[in-house]
Amino acid sequence: MSDCIFCKLANHEIPTTVVYENDLACAFEDAEPQAPVHVLVVPKQHFENMTDEIPSEVLSAMAEAVREVARIKGLDEGFRLISNAGAVAGQTVMHLHWHILGGKNLGEGLIP
Ligand code: AMP
Ligand code: ZN
Repeated sequence: MSDCIFCKLANHEIPTTVVYENDLACAFEDAEPQAPVHVLVVPKQHFENMTDEIPSEVLSAMAEAVREVARIKGLDEGFRLISNAGAVAGQTVMHLHWHILGGKNLGEGLIP
């Protein structure tokens, strides 16, 4: 069995606050939010980051989850989508995840 924490969260082996899920992706609250809304969208299957070859249906399911999280969280005015790939980018959990940040004015820079 995988000892990847995000595999376990996305597949309900460890309880978490799920915001939205579909067959291939799960969105849950970040444990250390960096903004009023900070949700992680992850594939249920393990990939390390965006440098992996990810099936289009998985990417599509993740994109659907982004739209649904934005709707559920009321992010009508916008949000930021970030995915760190590799240690240089600050990736600390080696299971692909997209950060959705919002709920406040994030400014114009890429780095909050
Ligand atoms: P990154 O630095 O891009 O790899 O982001 C990892 C993110 O995962 C950080 O924002 C952490 O706060 C978050 N995180 C780590 N462990 C958990 C967990 N058990 N549940 C929810 N979020 C987590
Ligand atoms: Zn994993």
